[in-house]
Amino acid sequence: MRAMDSSCSESGSGFYFSSKLKADAPKTPEERKAFVENILRPLDLSDDDYHTVMQSMLDQMERGLGAATNDTAPIKMYPTYVRAVPDGTESGEFLALDLGGTNFRVLLVTLKGQEVKMDSKIFLIPQHIMLGSGKHLFDHIAECIYRFVKEHNLMERKLPLGFTFSFPCRQKGLARAMLTTWTKGFKCEGVEGHDIVALLHEAITRRGDLNVECLAVINDTVGALMSCAHTDRKCAVGIILGTGSNACYIEKLEKVEMAEGNEPGPPEMLINTEWGAFGDDGSLDFITTDFDRQVDKHSINAGKQRYEKFISGMYMGEIVRLALEKLRKNGLLFGGEGSYHMATRGRFYTKYVSEVESDDTDSFPMTKQIFQELEIETVTDQDCRLVRHVCALVSRRAAFLSSAGVACILNKMKRPEVTVAVDGSLYRFHPHFHDLMMEKTRVLAPGIRYKFMLSEDGSGKGAALVAAVANRILAEQKAKGNPETSSAV
Ligand code: ADP
Ligand code: MG
Repeated sequence: MRAMDSSCSESGSGFYFSSKLKADAPKTPEERKAFVENILRPLDLSDDDYHTVMQSMLDQMERGLGAATNDTAPIKMYPTYVRAVPDGTESGEFLALDLGGTNFRVLLVTLKGQEVKMDSKIFLIPQHIMLGSGKHLFDHIAECIYRFVKEHNLMERKLPLGFTFSFPCRQKGLARAMLTTWTKGFKCEGVEGHDIVALLHEAITRRGDLNVECLAVINDTVGALMSCAHTDRKCAVGIILGTGSNACYIEKLEKVEMAEGNEPGPPEMLINTEWGAFGDDGSLDFITTDFDRQVDKHSINAGKQRYEKFISGMYMGEIVRLALEKLRKNGLLFGGEGSYHMATRGRFYTKYVSEVESDDTDSFPMTKQIFQELEIETVTDQDCRLVRHVCALVSRRAAFLSSAGVACILNKMKRPEVTVAVDGSLYRFHPHFHDLMMEKTRVLAPGIRYKFMLSEDGSGKGAALVAAVANRILAEQKAKGNPETSSAV
């Protein structure tokens, strides 16, 4: 069905949005081409733009590291108190928790040299708990640990636990992490500003039937880095390209002015950059398109996480949808025909971008299937080519902006050779993200040898590795007659 007015009308198979064709829609092929280019040009950035982005990110990172400037710095550069990557001798059985990704998981990780065995179970966190009280959330987590431990016949053992908690935290030690702010749909009362390890231990104590001690809290970026470093000692950067985006890297201890305490250990510390917030002071406005502005405006955290919104899986599909809708409304796509789905925010999933870009360019079977699902009735090969072009532009910009972030860190670290651990479904499943990042990082970080390494289950393995090292140090200190928990791994 095609309607030429601007109303929403109902047909047998559901709602169809009007084509709302603009009166001045271009007619000739040349006019159409110029019009398309005009609409899409802002998505195409130059190397000069990427260099400006890098310079600005570097400034904000330096401000985040400095004690006098951290307060007003958009990139917070949180100290993690993780001081060393694993040396491969870690061994034993550890529990790990992974909260803050798509699923909540409890894991049993067995480390024995390079051998890592993992057994995990996904538990649901119902919406009413995600939005309820902190006490309920941690009681629920403790209940899940109990069920897991019981199922695995581990009740008689005292198990060290590593907690991958992927929300921004200001840490005061390895096992002291104050939640700064909830993100990703969580909003539990009484947790922001509080130590999540203390809240977990209180819940465990309330039950009285669990023999578990949380020795470390880490973020998923740190998990990715640690888990890759277990097999590759050159790994010094970890990035996430999933629902959100973030990075961590190894910094010289003397630069980490925000870290408290003065524990003995290597002169380095992992920094959780929380780079998603880069640009929250307006410094990325010069590359922000109308599509990005709309995505931001309608998000639950408008004005926040601006860099993340250019890059990550939660937003990329929506940027594409907005660009397609603009083309469509100008009569440049689908003959101007819209649909209820294409007019619905968030309905063009980021996985579609991967599918469109993986499609066979002779007949576009997957692209046509997607638009069939989205109830667009007539999709020509020319439409498919244009949709593919839009997807490629948006994902190329995302991959290149991620490269600018990686290159900024590589140039700052000045190591001649670095492995970058990467986790997240966007990087994992997009057909070209890896190649695009390789290509642009070469341009933006010349002279540095680097490679990207997919982190396999970093959130579980990484948390266990950090807990393992903390446990070893604790045992050493107890042997020396000093029972204090060390904050330095
Ligand atoms: P999380 O970041 O929550 O831990 P993931 O790493 O699995 O989880 O990332 C989930 C995000 O990845 C989703 O927001 C989704 O947009 C994106 N995603 C899922 N599948 C694909 C895909 N095939 N191609 C590109 N992005 C994808
Ligand atoms: Mg994850």
